[in-house]
Parts: sequence; structure tokens; C-alpha cells
Amino acid sequence: MQEGQAEILLDRYRGRLIESAGRGAPLVFDITELERFDIEVADFAIEHPDEFLQMMNRAVNGYDFPIEVDGQIRVRIRNARDVRRIGSLRSTDVGRLITVEGIVRSASVVYTSLTEVYLVCRRCQTGMYAPAGQVKRNDGLLCVQCERSGPFKIDRERSKKDDSRFVVLQEFPEGLRAGNLPRSILVILSGDLVENIGAGNRVRITGVLKLMEGPKSKASETIDYDHYIEAVYVEQIERDFEDLVITDDDVEQIKRLSQEPDLIEKIRRSIAPSIYGLDDIKLAIALQLASAPETVYADGTTSRGDIHVLLVGDPGVAKSQLLRYVAQIAPRAVFTSGKGVTVAGLTAAAVKDETGDGKWTIEAGALPLADKGVCCIDELDKMNERDREALHEGLEQQIIAIAKAGITATLRCRCAVLAAANPKYGRFDPNETVAAQINLPPTLLSRFDLIFVIHDRPDQARDGELVEHILNGDAAAPAIEPDLLRKYIAYVRQSVNPVLTDDAKAVLKKCFLDVRGMCASANHPVPITARQLQALMRLSKAVARLRMSKTVSEGDARLAANLLMKCLGEVGIDPESGMLDVGTVDVGMPKTAADRTIKLQRIIADLAKRSPDRLASHTDVIAEAERAGIDIYKAENLLRKMVSMGSVMEVRAGKYRPV
Ligand SMILES: [Zn+2]
Repeated sequence: MQEGQAEILLDRYRGRLIESAGRGAPLVFDITELERFDIEVADFAIEHPDEFLQMMNRAVNGYDFPIEVDGQIRVRIRNARDVRRIGSLRSTDVGRLITVEGIVRSASVVYTSLTEVYLVCRRCQTGMYAPAGQVKRNDGLLCVQCERSGPFKIDRERSKKDDSRFVVLQEFPEGLRAGNLPRSILVILSGDLVENIGAGNRVRITGVLKLMEGPKSKASETIDYDHYIEAVYVEQIERDFEDLVITDDDVEQIKRLSQEPDLIEKIRRSIAPSIYGLDDIKLAIALQLASAPETVYADGTTSRGDIHVLLVGDPGVAKSQLLRYVAQIAPRAVFTSGKGVTVAGLTAAAVKDETGDGKWTIEAGALPLADKGVCCIDELDKMNERDREALHEGLEQQIIAIAKAGITATLRCRCAVLAAANPKYGRFDPNETVAAQINLPPTLLSRFDLIFVIHDRPDQARDGELVEHILNGDAAAPAIEPDLLRKYIAYVRQSVNPVLTDDAKAVLKKCFLDVRGMCASANHPVPITARQLQALMRLSKAVARLRMSKTVSEGDARLAANLLMKCLGEVGIDPESGMLDVGTVDVGMPKTAADRTIKLQRIIADLAKRSPDRLASHTDVIAEAERAGIDIYKAENLLRKMVSMGSVMEVRAGKYRPV
């Protein structure tokens, strides 16, 4: 490409150039457009992008504009012919223009870097500009005046500066074969490109593949470099399912499937067919995969449509297998463990990145990486403190906010969470409430729409069926092929947004009031909360979505209500009253235990008030408690617990004072 061709090209882009200059926006060359203009020019831009950009920059900034233009106009290129996989980049690509897609795993803060350094010769005081790379490497710099190799001092004020930022781009998790780790690459951004990109974003980046300064290992016989990309264009990807192509034939098949009478049952049986039983959980997973559309209220506030499901169970009940299965079948999914595989864990972290000279970066965890998909979290109970705190907001508002070392960032995580956890002591104790045995804060539990408890109880009839299931290999054949099921889910998520009918509303209302009634009769004043009503709405919309129906029918609502009732029943039964008690999930203590605590507290306060030393004695407390109908053994236990929690003070041995 000759120098004159740059001017010819610009004349062709004149309209756009003037418009860009007026807005202070960059001038963007699209390779597919350039190909139509001149295939050789397009080839040149791909083979020698740095030279192409230099030529175009010179031409643009020397252009005779009919309007006043202040500042420099940046030239950008986008869409190098094919989108490459990050793992496929090779040494032959170095120096060429490439386009890659991926998810931003981490993004650094914006910093200032010197692009052209103003050097002053210490011998003759002459100043000159030199490219930053050359100064950094210190290769062959000679003073323009005295022609000696310095020493030089850097004048930062007069040096040319630019905003810079680096991100680590990682391959999409859904494009990977099982067991493969996603590959990632460092991308350097400068100028206007530093804006509008953050951890968790899905982006398409066009840039020049380069080699990192300085060899990475001294051990080998060769000099090895890492690749990085110098970005020339960044765009956000709006499509929902990148690698899922749904053809017209597929759509026909999907529509045919949606008409089948026993559709929901078929879908349920296609979820993890090799795992025996767990029918309610499989139904819940089917609903979760479809989820409901986000609700936008008149005042602009929104309510999530994603359905969160928690499985708490004895070891060996196939929780992990279920999670792995869902991670494979969901059109977009991330599988992780609460124990944390990365620094960012489940949410996000601000860390000093070694690859970027120790600059602060925001690293996206599993939830932001699963944005618009499903996040499968095994061993949720093992998560760290930071995740425990940030997860509430992540589940409900679907954002992760981070503020550390003067940097703030908000990452979106519009995903459905399927999590598994073990009981606190490894195995369920039937004499305690389930809620008390889940090693997670009650406020966090209340963010899950459905909580399933899986007991590994010996049951001869069930065991017999289980053996049959395992021995009978063809039982594992799914009712719907996994490939079709993925497409079906992707399709309904994109195209079906059901609304509630009056009949459906009536069913949900009745279910809500029934549960309230059941709890009221057992003297539970505020048992079921608005959270469960929202869960009911989401679940019934998901049923309608799976049926590919624009409206939620009475039957859909009934199916959702039954499922929620079963869950509430399993988690929320107070072992003492035998009654449904949603309070166990919401506040972490069954109502009867809470009642006893209050009673005992009053007793201690009364006794202390009446005694001369303002202290209640152990014997009196227990005697009063027994009179008030509290079992002695329980009163003893409770008193110990209150002392250890600090709600009662043991001033001397056997002498208590209320706090
Ligand atoms: Zn000099």
C-alpha cells in the first residue's frame, strides 16, 4: 500500500471522516468494507496493521478539514476476517490483525502511560522525542545534537501521554469441551478504548497480536515470549448464546416438541437421566433452565426472573453429578466450587495483577462470568467470608459491587444459581430443624426460590428401584436428545415472555394464603413472606415458558405451587410442632425456639428485678422455666446458649443478669 492510497481511501470516507471529527469520535475502518473498496488495501490492513494505522493516522491528521477540528482523530479497524479462538493464536499471527471474542475475566484500573518520551541529554541539554518502547529497552538511543548515548533524563511534562488499561480476555466457558480449561490472553487498551469495558463483559476485540517485552523464562534454551493483543477496536456482544446456531429446521422441531401433551414430564425425564429419582429436583432444574423474564415495574425498578435453587443433602446423593449435568445442558453455564478456584471466587475481587506490573485489577468471579446463564456452585457452604457477604446482592439485585483501594466497579450477574451444600455436621440429624443444619446465613437462604433437602435414608423399596435403574442401562436414555433440549431452552428463553392470567393469579393467591393460614393456626404470625410469592410467580412463568405459552395457565400455577409447597414442607418443618414454618428459613430459628428464648429472657429479667443483688440464680431460673412450660433440659441448654451468645451475662457462677 502506497502513501497516496491513504489519501484516496480518506476521500472515499470523507463524509464519515468529517462526521467523526465533528463528534470527536474515532474513524473506524471495517475490513469487510475495505475489501469491497480494494482487496489489496484490506489485505495490507490485516498483514501490516501497525503500518496501516500509522499511514492513516498521518493522512487523517494532515487532512484539510472544512471545519475546525481540535485534538487528534484516532483511526480504528474492526472485524479482521474471521473470529479466532484465543487458544488457536500462533507465532505466525504475531504482527497481524486478529479478532477474538471472549469474556473479560479481569480489568485493570485506567492509568496514564507515556507513548512518546521527551528525553533531555544531560551532556548538552538538547531535547528530543523517542518511542516509549525504545526508551524502555534502552536500545541504541543517541542524542540528536552531540550524538552520544546520553545519559538522558525524562521530561514527563513534555512527553506524550495516553490513557491505558489492560484486561485479561478468556474464552467463553460454553464453547469448551468438558474438562478443558479456558485459555486467556492479555489485551492492552489505550485512548478512548479504555472506556466502557469491565470485568464480566462479553466482548469482541480486534487488535494486533504482539510479543510481551522481556523473555518469560530463563530456564529454556530458546527465548520465550508471551502473546498479548494491542487492541484497536472493542465492541460489546449483545447476542445471548454465542455458539448456539438455531436453524429453521431446529425451530420446526422445537415447535413440534412444544405441542407434545406430556411435554413437561418429558423435559423433566431428560434432565440427568442417569441419576435415579429426585423427580422434584429435576422439575425444578427444568424450570430454572427456562426461568422467567425479568419484571420491570412502572417506576423502573426490576425484579429478577432467574430462579435460584439450593440442594442440601447427605453425602453421596448425586448433588455434584446433577450440577455437572446442568452445566453441560444449559446454553450458557459456569461450574465452580464454593471453595474457590480463583482469587475472585464466586463474586469478584480487586487484586494487584502480576502480569500488569502490579496494577490494581478487578477480577470477575463465577457469578459475573455466568451472566445471562446458569451458575452451578458445588459446596456452597465452603465459600469464603467475602463471597458470603457479596452473594446476597448477587442473588437478589444481580450485581456485584466492589470498592477497594480507591477503585469501584459494578459487575452484572444476571444468572440463575444452582448450588449444592452439605449439612453442617456432614449428615442430617433428624431431631434438629433442617434450617439449623444448613451452614449458611438464613438471609442468604431466603434468596433461594427453592431449597431441596436430600436425605440418604435407607429405604428397601426405593433401593430396589435404584438397583434396577443402574442395572437397566437403557433407562438412562433421555426422552429428548440433549442437543435439542439445549436449543429448546435457548429458544424459549429468547422468544417466550408469559404473563399471568386471572385464573393463575387466583391459584397463586390461594397457595400463598393457605400456607399463611397453616402457619397462623400454629401461632406463627409472619410465616410466609413476599419472597415466596415472587418465587411462585417466577416458577409458574417458567412452566408457561417451557410450554411455549404466552400466558400462565391455572395448571402452570398449580404445578409451581405444588413444587414450592413440597420444598417449604421439607425445609420448614419445625420438629417440635410438626408444623410448616417458613420462619426457619427466614430468620434461622424455629418459632417455638424463638418463643422459648423470649420467655426465658423475661423470666431472668423478672427474677433479677425482684432479688436484692439484681441477679437471677440458676435454681430459680430453671424452676420458673419449668413452671412456664419449658422442659428443664431445654431450659438448661437455652440458658447456656444465651450466655455464650451474650444475651445474658453470668456475673458469678450460677448468677445471671439480663443484658
Ligand atoms: Zn547531547
